[in-house]
Amino acid sequence: MDIAVIGTGYVGLVTGVCLSELGHQVTCIDIDERKVEMLENGKSPIYEDGLEELLVQNLQKGRVDFTTDYRKGLRNKQLVYLAVGTPQGDDGSADLTYIEAACRNIAENLENDTVIVTKSTVPVGTNEHIKETIEANLVHDVTINVASNPEFLRQGSAVHDTFHGDRIVIGSDDNEALVMLERVNEGFGLPIVKTDLRSAEMIKYASNAFLATKISFINEMANLSERIGANIDHVARGMGMDNRIGGSFLNAGIGYGGSCFPKDTRAIISIGKEADYDMPILENVVDANERQRVIIVEKLLTRFSSLNGKRVAVLGLAFKPNTDDMREAPSIEVTGKLIEAGAEVTAYDPVAADNAKTILPDQVRYAGSVEEALQHADIAIILTEWKEIKEFPLAGYRDRMNEAILFDGRNCFTLDEVRGSGVEYHSIGRPVVN
Ligand code: NAD
Repeated sequence: MDIAVIGTGYVGLVTGVCLSELGHQVTCIDIDERKVEMLENGKSPIYEDGLEELLVQNLQKGRVDFTTDYRKGLRNKQLVYLAVGTPQGDDGSADLTYIEAACRNIAENLENDTVIVTKSTVPVGTNEHIKETIEANLVHDVTINVASNPEFLRQGSAVHDTFHGDRIVIGSDDNEALVMLERVNEGFGLPIVKTDLRSAEMIKYASNAFLATKISFINEMANLSERIGANIDHVARGMGMDNRIGGSFLNAGIGYGGSCFPKDTRAIISIGKEADYDMPILENVVDANERQRVIIVEKLLTRFSSLNGKRVAVLGLAFKPNTDDMREAPSIEVTGKLIEAGAEVTAYDPVAADNAKTILPDQVRYAGSVEEALQHADIAIILTEWKEIKEFPLAGYRDRMNEAILFDGRNCFTLDEVRGSGVEYHSIGRPVVN
């Protein structure tokens, strides 16, 4: 099929490239000229495992191309995917500015009938609004339909998830649009959930809200375990073996971040407010996560009377491993608080350092490796569980640091691994070791 994808961020670029891999003819449109130029030259502006290889292959086969020109990009397309950002607005609701702008661009440039497919996470009812906005601004005499196809990929494994996800959700109030979307997605070979427009929009928010709840829940259990002498690893394992609970997403740590969970939980609370319905569970999930993010700094302040002049090595900055995304990363708040307390911070991240430099306090210094960050440090903190950080030997902390004291915000080591290592080890939901 002939497809246009609007927005070449984490979702749009992965969607466009993966659809072209299935054999569809895809044009990706973005307003960012620098991104489009990079993409035309086979360079991915974001870090995602396997993405650049697929991009290059499909560019060479002539199945994907990039443009900033809406008229050219929309020409003869049967489906137009919307994948622009929907960031958090000032009041917590989703900011639809980019969606509105893209709709107006579509309306002004669309010259043939098409189905608009929304991949962006948008409040319930937005697809109807998208249809009205485009129809009100159409320049040519064309017919449009709308469908919702929310995205469930995880940053860090986005390409893998697109081909091996648990399900694809498609929602529309128009049967023809549903049939078209089913055909487009057939090639992925994944179970397809067909539903109406509003239910599809709601599935996305409900799923993210549930996952965020699971994280805040296990963190609350971890904080209590710590106080009563239980070990959250054992607690989570024992809980997760119950199929009704499930073992995934039960890793205690310093809370969730990134471009989705924080904004989507706040957005669904805001959707509730508009519908005159309070959502106390989710309000507490959000509060609990905010507290959890800085718990590691509180642990430091309990252990040391002052952090003034202490050399702190921060390992991992991205909001999670395998991505360069720094949006709502706990490292932002943690490094800010450390600097405020007078600490000298040296940070290391395998891929997010360039993005971090534009966000973290100017006082943060950057190291080129774990080893370099640890050299002569008084305290080490793990904020992101990158494989190379998880696998860095404990002896390396002992050998390089002034005093081997590690605060692990992601529980990268088991207590058995740490016992007798000579490293004073603080983690989440488990007793202090050594
Ligand atoms: P992003 O910020 O990485 O990318 C958005 C892109 O849209 C940018 O390249 C921007 O230049 C472009 N853009 C903005 N306005 C435009 C316009 N008028 N025309 C053309 N291009 C325009 O965003 P993202 O992380 O890919 O998220 C996109 C949507 O998908 C959001 O609604 C998000 O909630 C949702 N989502 C994201 C993820 C994720 O893991 N990132 C997962 C599921 C769903």
